[in-house]
Amino acid sequence: MPKIIKYDEADIKQRKRAANADIFVSESAVNDMIDHACRGASENAEVMGLLAGHVFRDEKGIYATVSKAVTSKLLSDQVSVRFDHSGMVTLFDALDDLDFDYVIVGWYHSHLGIGCFMSGTDVHTHVSSFGNSGFAIVTDPIKEEIKVFKGSDIGPKEASMVVVEDHTQMA
Ligand SMILES: [Zn+2]
Repeated sequence: MPKIIKYDEADIKQRKRAANADIFVSESAVNDMIDHACRGASENAEVMGLLAGHVFRDEKGIYATVSKAVTSKLLSDQVSVRFDHSGMVTLFDALDDLDFDYVIVGWYHSHLGIGCFMSGTDVHTHVSSFGNSGFAIVTDPIKEEIKVFKGSDIGPKEASMVVVEDHTQMA
């Protein structure tokens, strides 16, 4: 059975990136994240989930692809808790039971009308789960914004994202 692999256990393959960006996200994953955030916003709730894909390395450093946004909907059989900023550990435990062959390259969450940035809590959540690596996508369905941050030695820094069509071979 394929197993979920955490970022720091991933075997990082050498492959040249297709465009000058830090993360390449499938259109369906972006749509799933935005839909999830909008459903949350209609209940005045922030939502979160994980980014499943692959990690690569080239001469410019590490980059990632995201095939799937793992939403609470997908995990609803495994986890009954509402996802909040303290739910990451539960989320990882639940993922261990999923039939996936992806690397968890990061996480996403939503903000409600305050714009996209990494709050102190967000930075803490990121560092405790991904250390100085990994990616965090923040989306604000009210302001209609989306931003990505990449882990670094000094904490998550804003990074660049390219959205790719689903039929494009990413990994
Ligand atoms: Zn936040």
